[in-house]
Amino acid sequence: MEIFDTHAHLNWREEYKDDIDAVLENAKNAGVTHILLASSELHDSKINMDLREAKKDCGVKLSCAVGVHPEVATTFDDESKWQMEQWLKKKDELGIVAVGEIGMDYHYDDASPAAEAMAFIYQMGLAYRYDLPAIIHERDACEDTLFILKSLSEQKLLRETPGVLHCFSGSVETAKILLDMGFYLGFDGPITFKNARKAPDVIRMCPLDRLLVETDSPYMAPVPFRGHRNEPAYVKYVVEEMARLKEISVEEMARITTENAQRLFGKDT
Ligand SMILES: [Zn+2]
Repeated sequence: MEIFDTHAHLNWREEYKDDIDAVLENAKNAGVTHILLASSELHDSKINMDLREAKKDCGVKLSCAVGVHPEVATTFDDESKWQMEQWLKKKDELGIVAVGEIGMDYHYDDASPAAEAMAFIYQMGLAYRYDLPAIIHERDACEDTLFILKSLSEQKLLRETPGVLHCFSGSVETAKILLDMGFYLGFDGPITFKNARKAPDVIRMCPLDRLLVETDSPYMAPVPFRGHRNEPAYVKYVVEEMARLKEISVEEMARITTENAQRLFGKDT
């Protein structure tokens, strides 16, 4: 079995500082062949690239995303823009396969909606210009996120496969709009929770060729590890639940979601 964990924050050194090698080994033993390292701020982006370089021979492919999360949108200044461009110009050499995570989050008011929108739109522009998919985070800001994405789509500023709505928690209606724009939908541990509500319906509706699996490690650990530190090896529980919902075998779901991830992000690092 080959599984592609399309979203993990292994760059949070505090969480993995004592056992990163064991975490990568566990992933390999669980059938994880590829991990996309997500980024919340430019400091993470840099650590992702260093980690990829340092663990080249770990037996799991590591790819990097660069980007600034909406919660820290106020840090996205001119210097950040310049720094991101420097990296993106060398994306192949640095193993950068996506811009993210970027997006809109009104759950906490660390950044104003305007600051979030500015950082989001600018980084969507970078993704388009450097022909990379975006990893989009949306929380309690569905309407404004859709408004921005629709405007970009109307102005022909979205790629044909613009990216993924990561840890998707929206409704079936919202999912349909995003699928029409070419987006993939990523699902994590919460789909294994007993109280999972909207996600199962969205997964049942979503075409198989648009589903991605992810962990969002160290957060979002699936049952039976709910509440503990998450790690990429646990992505298999997400694959299992998704296979159950789609009524196909676990092997088939692993194969399909891996092919989807490779189509969107590439096979190599
Ligand atoms: Zn994340």
